[in-house]
Amino acid sequence: MIHRGLALLQGLARPFMLDEARCAGCGLVAQAGPGRQSSLCPDCRLALAPQEVAACPGCGQRQDAQPEVLQQPSALCAACRQSPRPWGRLVSFGAYEGRLRELILAYKFQGRLGVGRQLQECLASAFERQAHVFPELAACELVVPVPLHVRRLAWRGFNQSRELAKLLARRRGLPIRQEALMRVRRTVPQMELGRSERAENIRGAFAGAPKFLAGRTALLVDDIMTTGSTLEECSRMMRAAGAAQVHVLVLARA
Ligand SMILES: [Zn+2]
Ligand SMILES: [Zn+2]
Repeated sequence: MIHRGLALLQGLARPFMLDEARCAGCGLVAQAGPGRQSSLCPDCRLALAPQEVAACPGCGQRQDAQPEVLQQPSALCAACRQSPRPWGRLVSFGAYEGRLRELILAYKFQGRLGVGRQLQECLASAFERQAHVFPELAACELVVPVPLHVRRLAWRGFNQSRELAKLLARRRGLPIRQEALMRVRRTVPQMELGRSERAENIRGAFAGAPKFLAGRTALLVDDIMTTGSTLEECSRMMRAAGAAQVHVLVLARA
């Protein structure tokens, strides 16, 4: 009887204790300590904290220069100066590596929604920080998530780019217009292809809608940028549909 009573007590206490001790990011037991501000473990807290790394405002490539130097609109990298990207500014929260990469994958493929809330915050705060440096970002009138093909959407159940953009859109009072950019052709997942194959694979996969884009400045949002060929194709199609300008916001850049 005593054992059963103890087991029952432990059983009652367990869910509560686990809730308290689990990291909202990785799901591992967080190291509780005095002054612990959030339910994130130290590694996740570090991965999701704002990163003060100098990056090219055209492509997001990290640069060695001091952040003060790069916070000048002209500080494009050599590649972007030579062949400008088909968008105005690119904002990236962080590098697609380490714990941040693990968290994005957990969100995308396991649908870990607690992680999603944290990532939404990362995306929103990255945009706000850059909007102080590049006032043209404040001209964005609508948010356009990179669309998934309808069959991929059915399989995954959600478009991660759209979900990630929600907090930013709410704070800025911007509409999310998925209809502004449609996926008209199914493609092989880009991650299965090499660099040169990606641009070919994605060509003609999207169509912009002038009804939503003509004369407007749009913010194109995606979770991960690898070579940038998907974003370039999307941006071109949006400009072809009459968008006055397209800026890009991604959570992580490979
Ligand atoms: Zn964690
Ligand atoms: Zn660049």
